[in-house]
Amino acid sequence: MTKYVYSFKEGNKDMKNLLGGKGANLAEMTSIGLPVPRGFTVTTEACNKYYDDSEQISEEVKEQIFTYLNDLELETNKKMGDKTNPLLVSVRSGARASMPGMMDTVLNLGLNDEVASGFAIATNNKRFAYDSYRRFIQMFADVVKGYPKSSFERLLDSIKEEKNVKYDTDLTEDDMYEVAFKFKEIYKNISGVDFPQDPKIQLVEAITAVFRSWNNERANIYRKMNDIPSIWGTAVNVQEMVYGNRGNDCGTGVAFTRNPATGENKLYGEYLINAQGEDVVAGIRTPQPISTLENEMPEVFNEFNKIAHILENHYKDMQDMEFTIEKGKLFMLQTRNGKRTAQAALKIAVDLVNEKMITENEALLKVEPKQLDQLLHPNFDVEALNNAKIIATGLAASPGAGTGKIYFNAEDISEAKNRGEKTLLVRLETSPEDIQGMSDANGILTIRGGMTSHAAVVARGMGRCCVSGCGELKIDETNKTITTKDGQVFKEGDYMSIDGSTGYVYGSEIKTVEPEISGDFQIFMSWADNVKKLKIRTNADTPKDAIQARKFGAEGIGLCRTEHMFFEENRIFEFRKMISAETVEQRILALENILPYQRKDFEDLFRAMEGYPVVIRYLDPPLHEFLPHTDEEIKPLALSLGVSFDSLKERIESLKEFNPMMGHRGCRLAITYPEIAVMQTRAVIEAAINVNKEGLNVTPEIMIPLVGDVKELEYIKKIVCQTADEIIKNNQIEMKYEIGTMIEIPRAAITADKIAKVAEFFSFGTNDLTQMTYGFSRDDAGKFLNDYYSKKIFESDPFAKIDQEGVGELIKMAAEKGRSIRPNMSLGICGEHGGEPSSVEFCHNIGLNYVSCSPFRVPLARLAAAQAVIKQK
Ligand code: PEP
Ligand code: MG
Repeated sequence: MTKYVYSFKEGNKDMKNLLGGKGANLAEMTSIGLPVPRGFTVTTEACNKYYDDSEQISEEVKEQIFTYLNDLELETNKKMGDKTNPLLVSVRSGARASMPGMMDTVLNLGLNDEVASGFAIATNNKRFAYDSYRRFIQMFADVVKGYPKSSFERLLDSIKEEKNVKYDTDLTEDDMYEVAFKFKEIYKNISGVDFPQDPKIQLVEAITAVFRSWNNERANIYRKMNDIPSIWGTAVNVQEMVYGNRGNDCGTGVAFTRNPATGENKLYGEYLINAQGEDVVAGIRTPQPISTLENEMPEVFNEFNKIAHILENHYKDMQDMEFTIEKGKLFMLQTRNGKRTAQAALKIAVDLVNEKMITENEALLKVEPKQLDQLLHPNFDVEALNNAKIIATGLAASPGAGTGKIYFNAEDISEAKNRGEKTLLVRLETSPEDIQGMSDANGILTIRGGMTSHAAVVARGMGRCCVSGCGELKIDETNKTITTKDGQVFKEGDYMSIDGSTGYVYGSEIKTVEPEISGDFQIFMSWADNVKKLKIRTNADTPKDAIQARKFGAEGIGLCRTEHMFFEENRIFEFRKMISAETVEQRILALENILPYQRKDFEDLFRAMEGYPVVIRYLDPPLHEFLPHTDEEIKPLALSLGVSFDSLKERIESLKEFNPMMGHRGCRLAITYPEIAVMQTRAVIEAAINVNKEGLNVTPEIMIPLVGDVKELEYIKKIVCQTADEIIKNNQIEMKYEIGTMIEIPRAAITADKIAKVAEFFSFGTNDLTQMTYGFSRDDAGKFLNDYYSKKIFESDPFAKIDQEGVGELIKMAAEKGRSIRPNMSLGICGEHGGEPSSVEFCHNIGLNYVSCSPFRVPLARLAAAQAVIKQK
């Protein structure tokens, strides 16, 4: 018989896969003797079984749940449904990887009319009993039944207004009684049936709802963003309730052992007196900083501080803890490794090594490669900032600078982003439904909510800058305006800026600048460099990109797409002349004009790379990206080529292809027009000669794209060698150069041994290799891949993350075949996957020499490469 339920006394921290993070850590805290309310965990396997059984909890699982419920009743000496001594529980999700706010929680389960009235008498606290009951009714309606929260919230607001009070804590016991029964009426009005009174039915429904929430839209989006497989499932924790809403000697809070925004080694967090957990996260009242607890309840504070130290030492990482205080007694409801900004992650990793709590290798595993991205994002230009006016101050919830047009809901943000606008999402408070808009926005500003509110937590995780709790601003979400204290009004589409490191809000667009990297970052990255085996090169087409990449630690250029050197306006004109030329003479003339640009660019690239290898890929333009589209573009071109407008138009029409990505591009172009390869060879070799005269020692690496048959490569290699050797001979020097190829067509991978007889190196073009292995058009797949994710056919985008089973196998095979002919040949990848952590790990594991990625992803790839070595050990 499979065991689907575990008591907190049976599990431990290493059972995350089965018990989820929350369940495993509740068990661990129980076993080390910390004050944890008792309970049990329904496993992730039970969740998977629920989906296998057509979204039903089977009798077998239910039986085990009730057995453990019975044990819990015996242990706590309370009984579910009992009028005088009821067992009430919380039902909370807890997946293997934490997914804050993405799934569902139900508190105070077990209350019904009878229990609530008995509970009021037993606790001698009617207000508390009915406050708990009304919360439960609302949560059950919202989470379990999916009824809108707004009808409940509106009613609560209207009662507060009627009673003339500001906070729900100001409502009396009779008010709460009224609220609870009015909530029951709302429930009945919506559902048509009475609020369920049997606690066991409540429990099974709540557990079902948590399992169901694993598959809700926001959880799916979160999982996709964070590479969490859907087969993991969520566990459910059923735990004896402790009450933070039982009076002014009660409360609830969230705290971190170190500051999650800066990494400062100081207890950090906030709490609310007389409240339940959801109030802190939902930002209903603005919480107090944890330091005030020291004055308010010194004993509780000291105990909490002690536990925080125990937990940090135990887990050897910064902890994010939830706690509740009931009648002056502290209970721990959760601990987990805390989410943190990249800046904090680095500081904590470096500090923990200095404090001798962990080794350098352990520290390297504590920072997610993707997070480094946050450090590389823009800050405000200091001068521009000096001239900007601060219009309000909120909480500095997630660092970085964000500037853009303001929009008031997530959909408008996503639409504006699609129009190419920079945006800021402005909300009263965010909710998990806003996740896509939060990801699409350049920054997030909320009017309500603390540092651990949804907006703050999610923004930090995403690396989006965020200012939260900016109560100085008045927001009108219906009319889409914000008003400052002194009456200035901002409408949808107006520019604002926010600084997530200071909490300042500005009423204008402010120039941003690229960040400087130093301090902890450098120390940390030097540890990564000591460990990693892969070299990290960059995909750079311009000297500017190359210089940026060097600053980020690139050890060479793995791909210079030479056609990208022609995107500028005056250059594209020459380029268009070249591709639309009808005769060899016309083309050679156009190429002569292009040559100086290329030679100069190559020289600058070689200089920027200071002797590190530079791979120059010959022209590979999908023609549709470069052909002129309008008559206005064609007219001057015709003039310059000395042909009539009509004949050029006809020629351009004839060049159009049905499937340009599989068209006349790559080496196919140089086979038709060998003069292109001649010009490019001249540019590369002459540039190398020129910079070598300056003292560099460049061995240019020439790369031929889109080879499918070794004969294509042989043909072009001959032209390149003839041209290069002649230039070298004429200059009376010795200079080496290498000729390699991209492996980006499945046939090339399959025949890699034959190709390796001609190619001196391989670079895997995983963009095209993915396109052609799957037969998915690079240009069009985005239109339908969403269906693949929603239907669970794909977990992730194969154009972002290497499909290891298919494309990966081809790479592995080609690498082996290549090395069977040339044991020391250099192998790398230069598709987009070169900057994606799991793909970098794959490249390490199959023994490639380098990965090449865009400049801003170089640090990420360095760290991922180091982690790959440590994980392999
Ligand atoms: C590739 O196909 O992976 C590649 C790097 O080349 P491009 O993206 O330029 O086709
Ligand atoms: Mg390609």
